[in-house]
Amino acid sequence: MENQAATHSDLDQLMAYDSWHWAYWSSIRLQKSNFALDGFEWLPGIIRTPKRDKCYKKASQMAGTEGFVIDSLHGCITRKYPLGVLYLFPSKDTVTDFSASRFKPLITDNHEAIGQHVRDTDRSNLKQIGQGFLYFRSGALSKIVQGQHKTSAQLVAIPVDAVVYDEWDLMSPATRELAVRRMEQSNIQAEAFLSNPTLPDYGIESVYAKSDMSVWMIKCDKCGGYTCLELEYEKALHRLPNGKVLRLCARCRDREIYPRNGLWDARHPDRAMAGFWISHLCNYKTDFRQGTDPAHILDMIENPPRESYKVTHFWNMDMGMGHVSVRDRLSYQQVLDRCGDYGMENRDPGPCSMGVDQGNDINVVIGKKAFAGDKVVHIGTYIDWTELDNLMKDFKVSRCVVDALPETRNARAFAGRFPGKVYLNYYNEHQKGSYSWNEKEHTVSCNRTESLDSSHREIMEEAVILPKQCEVIEEFAKHMRNTAKRLEEDPETGSQRYVYVKLGTDHFRHAFNYFVMGLQNMPNLLFPGLA
Ligand SMILES: [Zn+2]
Repeated sequence: MENQAATHSDLDQLMAYDSWHWAYWSSIRLQKSNFALDGFEWLPGIIRTPKRDKCYKKASQMAGTEGFVIDSLHGCITRKYPLGVLYLFPSKDTVTDFSASRFKPLITDNHEAIGQHVRDTDRSNLKQIGQGFLYFRSGALSKIVQGQHKTSAQLVAIPVDAVVYDEWDLMSPATRELAVRRMEQSNIQAEAFLSNPTLPDYGIESVYAKSDMSVWMIKCDKCGGYTCLELEYEKALHRLPNGKVLRLCARCRDREIYPRNGLWDARHPDRAMAGFWISHLCNYKTDFRQGTDPAHILDMIENPPRESYKVTHFWNMDMGMGHVSVRDRLSYQQVLDRCGDYGMENRDPGPCSMGVDQGNDINVVIGKKAFAGDKVVHIGTYIDWTELDNLMKDFKVSRCVVDALPETRNARAFAGRFPGKVYLNYYNEHQKGSYSWNEKEHTVSCNRTESLDSSHREIMEEAVILPKQCEVIEEFAKHMRNTAKRLEEDPETGSQRYVYVKLGTDHFRHAFNYFVMGLQNMPNLLFPGLA
């Protein structure tokens, strides 16, 4: 190390200022080894970034939790975070496991550096460290009830200077709204996000995309050029005749490169948040832990397994990238490909189905059964509920499904003006099979995933036709691509289920879903006279 000649007081100052140096020079004992540089050359840059907020998009087992816990401890001990740090895990169980199996040994094995500063509080998930507190909590919100989350008791009334979201992709985005309120009394208000990615444009991927987007650039000893393995693996991975795979310089392709010879390079240095991305491409072999053989990575890319969950697991956990199967997310082009040659209509002889989603505005999709398949005739955005009354008449709507939330009063009044035609939708995750329509209550309930699957298939299987391309249709297509299906595990029960998650603005996606629900359950479809 370059600091070997430094005097004691220089080192003390450095250690007070810099959490990585502190952990390194105090020889912090981790579970299997001492806190080291070897094999983790990219870690110092992440935990000592001078930027207030940071995010870390990573493959599995890349020292994320170690690094961020060390940084939090250091912040409490040196009073960089005088009030303390709120460290969030995705579930209660992960908090308990971490406290017992990893945090407790960290305190007992490192008395000088850490243990002597810790005043025990009798609670495994709360430690007083120096003047501040380090809280380990679950970031899981107790229950999502029709989109309105109950305040999580876990997050109430704890003032802190910093919040860490460990496995951000497994937390509800609403967790953050509650967590940042815990920093209202702080002048510092630092946030740190780390996670294995899940979906593209979601969770840690979308946080990273807004950051300075640093990548690990590895220097070539021959030409002096730099290669980012995460971005240039296709050029850099080279298979020898004997099957061995080398990491080559992507510039000269004439020399092996070594992840330890890297440095962080921000692709958007002017952005406020620091963002880092490390995959198993940089996980070379170290003395205590198996590295990743680049041949394994190239095999997975060239011959992906048939099971889609294995493919997703590879991109998420090995490459540190969000991934979704083409079957589980609609593309912008796929939606535009459904455009026909007719324009947007302002009226129709019907009978039509209308889907209505409430956001800041009211988003509407109207269409009907036609000989060529399902046909959308009108897509629009409205401000006032009374405008919907005109649409009901102009399009001879015989069935309309309306989002019951967030504004139930207006939706209910609207349904009251068109009895037997307008239904308020409530999602019920336990419901299986067909929708249940309640004429008396003007409500319909359905399983959210099943209904979204059904409308997803309308586009996927080319069963629907849309008006010709225009600005509104382009906006519609953007909303349509902003949901994706992923497998989720209930942290309490371990049971798995598929869920559609939101990747961006998706009002027309839900309006389209309600339109399809109505269309599939229209009374007297083509021959209203025969009822
Ligand atoms: Zn080179």
